[in-house]
Amino acid sequence: MSTLLIRNAALLMTMDNHRREIPDGGLFIRDGFIEQVGPSAELPVDADEVLDLPGYLVLPGLINIHHHFYQTLTRAVPAAQNVNLFNWLKTLYPLWARLTPEDIHISTQTALAELALSGCTTAADHLYLFPNGSRLDDEIQAAQGIGLRLHASRGSMSLGESQGGLPPDSVVENESAILKDSQRLIEMYHDPNPGARVQVVLAPCSPFSVSPELMRQSASLAREYGVHLHTHLAETQDEEVFCLQKFDRRPVSYMSLLNWEGSDVWFAHSVYVNQTEIETLARTGSGVAHCPTSNMRLASGIAPIMEMVREGVKVGLGVDGSASNDGSHLLGEVRQAMLVARLRAGLSGASLSGEAAPPLMTARQALEIATRGGASILGRPDLGSLEPAKCADFVAINLNRLDYAGALDDPVAAVVFCAPVRVDYTVVGGKFVVKEGQLQSADLGRLIELHNRASKRLLEG
Ligand SMILES: [Zn+2]
Repeated sequence: MSTLLIRNAALLMTMDNHRREIPDGGLFIRDGFIEQVGPSAELPVDADEVLDLPGYLVLPGLINIHHHFYQTLTRAVPAAQNVNLFNWLKTLYPLWARLTPEDIHISTQTALAELALSGCTTAADHLYLFPNGSRLDDEIQAAQGIGLRLHASRGSMSLGESQGGLPPDSVVENESAILKDSQRLIEMYHDPNPGARVQVVLAPCSPFSVSPELMRQSASLAREYGVHLHTHLAETQDEEVFCLQKFDRRPVSYMSLLNWEGSDVWFAHSVYVNQTEIETLARTGSGVAHCPTSNMRLASGIAPIMEMVREGVKVGLGVDGSASNDGSHLLGEVRQAMLVARLRAGLSGASLSGEAAPPLMTARQALEIATRGGASILGRPDLGSLEPAKCADFVAINLNRLDYAGALDDPVAAVVFCAPVRVDYTVVGGKFVVKEGQLQSADLGRLIELHNRASKRLLEG
């Protein structure tokens, strides 16, 4: 039994059902779970460890629901800087075909270090190519060293160029091998219990890189074991055209045909969805991972997030792979989500001042997507808010800094509106991953050195 007392925070944002924000707030934590939340004066006075946080804002840990950690090795690659999704992929596939198990390990730690320092406590990653003996195990083991919760997606590609798919044949796998490995990984690593540190997700990559049959079989395997399903969907106009030409259906309708809908399914991007598709997503409880920076970086488009929120679609936030962002700053992504939703409202042609003005996404809505929204999509009622019986996953940010000078009337808004900062504390299940601004679980200098060496090797071949 161990207890941790957090107290005297300038403000504690709970994200609970009443969205309480508690001045002079604190948490009492026992064995990794929250036992009490409230004003510091109402909490126990002692614990095994006590942390006073006057002048800090405490928030629920942010949840990242779409990433490709390995892409941290190929950021800002010159030939992939100024192209759209399909050309970006075609440029990078041959580099990614050189990935080794060690590269997966290093890039996982790099991505998770960035995420932890930007306020993330749970990350879903989508690894969909396994060259040179790489396995999802490499990622899961590397993640355990950093200390964030991981939803590791067993991705896959099976439709190579020779069969009408986009990826070169050298990076696709045999479908029965994919399903066999998926089953092995679920049995080996998936923990369905509250407080789980690792869960497994099945995630064929996209409509243009796997067969309909693999989508169907992945869905039935996932449901047999009660694990979630994830894929890219409706990311670009090219993909919409591909689905209409090849399957004679729009993307969401194609997914329905394959039995890919429900509260155990979430889609990355969903930029090109119309009103009917938004209603389908809402009705079926399917989730969307909004990745605003990537959508801007690849000139994909602006996802209709406020329209989805209005219709009741579950929306969470993802930084997406680091080759299309080119970073893993989750608090920065919260800001991007708020800003790009406003840009979409401004571009809608409607007056922004009249009665029918489209609503502008608020800082609190953006944070809600990145906390409660992500938890709901991942099927984690134990995450997403600071309440008794939930996991003790939170971050703390010192408000007394240059970036927030002049913004302290509303500290919650300050962390979204002002330039994104690194957090001072990241705590997962009561354990410090970041303390006083320093990552506790890895030697960053060494990691960066190894990472740059691996990146150079990938680029030079
Ligand atoms: Zn992606």
